[in-house]
Amino acid sequence: MVGSRMPVEVNGIGFGGQDFVVIAGPCAVESEDQILRTARFVAGLGAQMLRGGAFKPRTSPYSFQGLGAEGLELLAAARRATGLRVVTEVMATGQVETVAAVADMLQIGSRSMHNDELLAAAGETGKPVLLKRGMTATVEEVADAAELLRARGCPGVVICERGIRTFGAATRNTCDIAAVALLQKMTGLPVIVDPSHATGRADLVAPVSKAAVAIGADGLIVEVHPEPPAALSDGRQSLSFPEFRDMVEELQPHLATWRETRARAHALAR
Ligand code: PEP
Ligand code: MN
Repeated sequence: MVGSRMPVEVNGIGFGGQDFVVIAGPCAVESEDQILRTARFVAGLGAQMLRGGAFKPRTSPYSFQGLGAEGLELLAAARRATGLRVVTEVMATGQVETVAAVADMLQIGSRSMHNDELLAAAGETGKPVLLKRGMTATVEEVADAAELLRARGCPGVVICERGIRTFGAATRNTCDIAAVALLQKMTGLPVIVDPSHATGRADLVAPVSKAAVAIGADGLIVEVHPEPPAALSDGRQSLSFPEFRDMVEELQPHLATWRETRARAHALAR
């Protein structure tokens, strides 16, 4: 791949070109201290974007539902403190305006990928969108959802492989690594990998991230928390600060090869 036929820019951060984009942050925004510490730490290690849910889709109605509007304000504060661009989920049509007022990029979650009304409203904001693959969605269905966003005016869609449901229970989902290359070819859009939701296990995040780099993904979105065992959501798949630092270090030789491959393909295409 030279890079994508339809690269995406998020306020100066380019997906689908010569840069591998790392998005990192907690599953959910929990407090000012938690999001600011995490943002500073991941920015110091070269992450370009901050993730963190303010509105959280949860499997159980009794789980932490997110801080809502207050969470958005904390994300904006973290952006001011670090310069990181912010991606955060929008779950409902009625939230689109509020979330778009703060986020640099809107996240459409796995559970919402089939919600055409939400896709249309997100597309109409004019903000770039991170579209997560539905947990039981085929690659054609993901490509169609991306097309719907674009038809509604979305200036840039980045697709995210976050694992699909299969028969095994050893991991939370199954990372469909081949879908990364396939979706890049089918859609021409940048495709990133979420190794955290794909595996559900912190110890598998680094190995799956290496696979994502090797296949030529355009970036990663990784859950990082100052104290994973105390996280209000997804603690088991969240990396601690030292674990994130180790992973970034481990990825360096693989990223060097990634950059060479992109640069060579780019030079050949000219
Ligand atoms: C998330 O990224 O926090 C999330 C809820 O992911 P998904 O929609 O892929 O389950
Ligand atoms: Mn999560």
